[in-house]
Amino acid sequence: MHNHDVVIIGGGPAGYAAALYGASAGLDIGLVEYRRIGGTCLHVGCIPAKELLETASVYRTVRHAGRFGVDAGEPALDWSVTMTRKQQVIDQLVGGLRTLLKGRKVTVYDGVGRLGPDRTVGVSGGESGDVTLGAAAVILAAGSVPRTLPGFEIDGRLVMTSDEFLSVEALPRRAAVIGGGAIGCEFASLMADLGSEVTILEALPQILTGCDADAVKVVQRSFKKRGITVRTGVRVEGHDPAGDETTVRFGDGESVTVDAVVMAVGRRPFPDLLGLDDTAVAVDERGFVRVDERCRTGEPGVWAVGDLIPTPALAHVGFAEGMLAIRDILGENPAPIDHSRVPWCIYCHPEVAFAGHTEDSAREAGYEVVTSSHRYVGNGRAQIVGDTEGLVKVIAEKRPDGTAGRILGVHLVGPWVTEQLGQGYLAVNWEATVDEVAAHIQPHPTLSELFGETVLSLTGRSLHG
Ligand code: NAD
Repeated sequence: MHNHDVVIIGGGPAGYAAALYGASAGLDIGLVEYRRIGGTCLHVGCIPAKELLETASVYRTVRHAGRFGVDAGEPALDWSVTMTRKQQVIDQLVGGLRTLLKGRKVTVYDGVGRLGPDRTVGVSGGESGDVTLGAAAVILAAGSVPRTLPGFEIDGRLVMTSDEFLSVEALPRRAAVIGGGAIGCEFASLMADLGSEVTILEALPQILTGCDADAVKVVQRSFKKRGITVRTGVRVEGHDPAGDETTVRFGDGESVTVDAVVMAVGRRPFPDLLGLDDTAVAVDERGFVRVDERCRTGEPGVWAVGDLIPTPALAHVGFAEGMLAIRDILGENPAPIDHSRVPWCIYCHPEVAFAGHTEDSAREAGYEVVTSSHRYVGNGRAQIVGDTEGLVKVIAEKRPDGTAGRILGVHLVGPWVTEQLGQGYLAVNWEATVDEVAAHIQPHPTLSELFGETVLSLTGRSLHG
């Protein structure tokens, strides 16, 4: 039996964050992973997806370089180079992570981890052989896997999930993307920019549910301009493969024939290998591990974090939950995470980023609100970079005298907005008022000054708009 202060099952963002943070606080950590360290995010999620989106961005830039007087000709894409570069980025990050874990003396076990009684973990099936680990605390961080629909068997050729798409040998000429959430919109955007004919089939009335309606309108307009067909409010019935193509049936007898179907209908938690049946860890009907506000499960001394629990399935939320669990284990009485105010970043073109309430959700929550929106077309830097699609929208609580008070939500859509969300996120989470934020200086010329301008206009005075 190998003993540690904390044993973590799962080496994705939530698990490795708990390991690194815990080790930096002086804890002796054992980390169990049955595949490569890094999880969905590094291998089949955030990192490869954003890397491929960057390829699409470079391609767009070269195509439009003539506007700057730079004659680059018609760009040609060598997908094999793209794939090699993507893998290099992943390998570098995984290597860095391994070095960090080693440097902090985290013991990494290769094998499947199963929770046993009294905070023991059995490891088996990997290079570490069969070992039993004992710990004062166990953190479950086994993550999630892509969902599919009945009748759509994943073969990696005609039907794929994000797992297969991110390593595809060639982009399909025609693709149907089922699901218009973050993954669906990111994949549709990158395929369309690189020349594929794309149809998004979304069951709900709009794509990007959860984003502010004004931001979604901007994305939809841009998608339409770039030839992406977006069908919302449609039920996908099934598909009929025929050789190298398949026909997807949806709605009232409609269909689309494509070379590949990309399934992006969400992910499901993956407690399957954790052996929870004989423990007091409760799993709900959707497979999520039930936890309290400090990520404690029903089993004493066992926490669960990341995509395994019913909180936003985002790597950075996993980081935060991993750190929260460690602080709770250390008895530091940490403040729970407010999951309604975490940052969201979607990397399709145009990008979307937000924190806090949408206008609709603020009103539904009973707030009287004042809003202001400013478009990037009026922003100097956006004109300079030649990317003026999009807007900043700020939602503030209406004071009894009608003026704008506390900032409830900040929504951005447009150029590099995922890199601009920081001050909006802080404003929402610091519970700052419009006046407090407007008192600060924004550097000029920047894309981010549009946020300052939008907040300034909520004070009732403004400069440009
Ligand atoms: P999602 O839940 O965000 O979106 C899935 C979409 O599929 C929804 O809009 C849903 O209505 C639709 N859908 C479900 N069943 C359908 C059906 N039968 N027919 C048509 N549409 C259907 O899930 P996702 O986009 O697959 O992403 C999975 C998780 O990963 C999410 O939690 C997401 O937040 C996270 N993620 C985040 C980012 C990011 O923030 N940049 C990127 C990728 C993934």
